[in-house]
Amino acid sequence: MTLLETVQGDITTIPVDAIVNAANSRLAGGGGVDGAIHAAGGPSILEECRRIVAARGHLPTGQAVATGAGRLPARFVIHTVGPIWGRHPEDDAVELLASCYRSSLDEARDRDCRTVSFPAISTGVYGFPKDLACRTAVAAVREWVAEHPDALDRVLFVCFSAGDHERYLEELAR
Ligand code: ADP
Repeated sequence: MTLLETVQGDITTIPVDAIVNAANSRLAGGGGVDGAIHAAGGPSILEECRRIVAARGHLPTGQAVATGAGRLPARFVIHTVGPIWGRHPEDDAVELLASCYRSSLDEARDRDCRTVSFPAISTGVYGFPKDLACRTAVAAVREWVAEHPDALDRVLFVCFSAGDHERYLEELAR
């Protein structure tokens, strides 16, 4: 059985097997949670990202790829590219966001991770409406863990703000 939980805090400080990063398709680092993860993890993560992009090109929206976690309290960082709100028809955007969560969990399972933390992908500069993003995230993770009941012990939704945390608490109680 997999526990789905939410906490308010900084995702870079919470020990798990794999931390998911809301990356961009160039895996180039940036602001928001991406910047925080690279700042806390150190340069080895960006070096590995550069090698991945050199070998296979930009990471398409909705897909995920894993690197080491540098100095972060994790074994892996799983980089996934969320949809930019307004760039896709709404149904496609929802499906792409769900795909981020599913692909990230696939990557974690393939690396024998038992615990995974997620930020609220796409809800910062990528502008995805927060309620819809939260519903999509929880539904996608619930579906994935139902299909893979023995794969993970714990999936943690890490929220930066109190409002986001409240939203996840309500959604997880449904
Ligand atoms: P995106 O480009 O996918 O929108 P952002 O990093 O701009 O990504 O924002 C995604 C979410 O991550 C936002 O809800 C933001 O509040 C949150 N966030 C930013 N920094 C952190 C952090 N250190 N830990 C957890 N969540 C964070």
